[in-house]
Amino acid sequence: MSPAEQPCVLIVEDEPAQREVLAYNLEAEGFRVASASTGDEALMLVDEVAPDLVVLDWMLPSVSGIEICRQLKTRAETRGLPIIMLSARAEEVDRVRGLETGADDYVVKPYSVVELMARVRALLRRTRPAAVGQRLEFEGIVLDPETHKVFRDDKPLKLGPTEFRLLSTFMEKPGRVWSREQLLDRVWGRDIYVDTRTVDVHIGRLRKALCQQGGEDPVRTVRGAGYALG
Ligand code: CA
Repeated sequence: MSPAEQPCVLIVEDEPAQREVLAYNLEAEGFRVASASTGDEALMLVDEVAPDLVVLDWMLPSVSGIEICRQLKTRAETRGLPIIMLSARAEEVDRVRGLETGADDYVVKPYSVVELMARVRALLRRTRPAAVGQRLEFEGIVLDPETHKVFRDDKPLKLGPTEFRLLSTFMEKPGRVWSREQLLDRVWGRDIYVDTRTVDVHIGRLRKALCQQGGEDPVRTVRGAGYALG
């Protein structure tokens, strides 16, 4: 996998030693890592690097982890971003509060790094299956992120790298409607300027590629909204 295809984890932790241990272990697991020591920095980095997952400390100076979590889960662009909260508070009431703010998982400090890594992988398998190398299937279409191969009804299909990333985005959430802007962020990345019409061009190529061995076009155009698979 090229670096850009490795899932990116954002660490938000104000204690430098803990931040380093986390970064070291995540990198050893093959993730790209971005880190922030404050909530404001975290919100900025979320926009800048578009992480696949956030490991968020509860106790942060000025803006708390809970507040960051609440803000991320309120914004439409970041609502689907998986968050694991870290907290030194083991009380059941805090566990409930952590989940009520929309955190997807919750780990109590001091945690075992092995357990946290397992939680990160499990959450990514659930939310970004292709990012952790899991095969995706949808109505006879099979996408294997490890070998970069796509099959339809067991016949191999030829796809360009952009079409492959588009298809993998669609197959992670069949039925979900993606706007052109969301597809640009996800497939091309936020720091690259690409016209939204480019999306239409590559959708056209993807459709052609998916039908090269016959079969119906599985990509749906949703007028005024974008595209969806199925
Ligand atoms: Ca802290």
